[in-house]
Amino acid sequence: MLNNKDFNYFIDSLNKMYPDADCELNYNSVFQLLIAVVLSAQTTDIQVNKVTNNLFKKYPDAFALANASYSDVISIIHSIGLYNAKAKNIINLSKYLKDNYNGEVPSTFEELTSLPGVGRKTANVVLMMEFNTPRMPVDTHVERVSKRIGIVDKNSTTLDVENELVKRLDPKDLRKVHHLLIHFGRYFCKSKSPNCIECPFKSICNKED
Ligand code: SF4
Repeated sequence: MLNNKDFNYFIDSLNKMYPDADCELNYNSVFQLLIAVVLSAQTTDIQVNKVTNNLFKKYPDAFALANASYSDVISIIHSIGLYNAKAKNIINLSKYLKDNYNGEVPSTFEELTSLPGVGRKTANVVLMMEFNTPRMPVDTHVERVSKRIGIVDKNSTTLDVENELVKRLDPKDLRKVHHLLIHFGRYFCKSKSPNCIECPFKSICNKED
């Protein structure tokens, strides 16, 4: 497991590698962020941005998307994975927001996770990005990098990863570190082809194979 000295070195180095790391999804409101995150499951942010560009032009808010036809939403988002289920989910989610929250996105973890199709990670992203709440969303990159380098052990759950990062970091740094870990996982410590040969962290990394 990574000791505190190596953990701090890792985070400081990531800060230098990716000084501008931030959310790569395009959106103009809390509602649009919520929809973009729901659409991003098992899909890249680049793919999501390609479809939300048209989706949000036509359906910019919960009232508009709640009244959209399933077939039209499918025609807009069909290039991303799981588009059938996602089309249903985002229309249902919009209807729920329209009927229960006057079209607004609620700002507490409990309310967010009670929305249809919204889980812990999505709620944490919305709270962290739009409600200035110190949270650590754990997506596939955050989980993979944390396990490989040894912030947590390989059998940890996503909740274990979240708790360990929250325990080790200053609350004010959670958002930045979230994006740093995503950038490092997306562009360097990739799922199928991590660049271990050129990695500045190979002397501290716990990856075995
Ligand atoms: S050595 Fe390889 S597995 Fe470890 S952090 Fe670097 S790229 Fe990732």
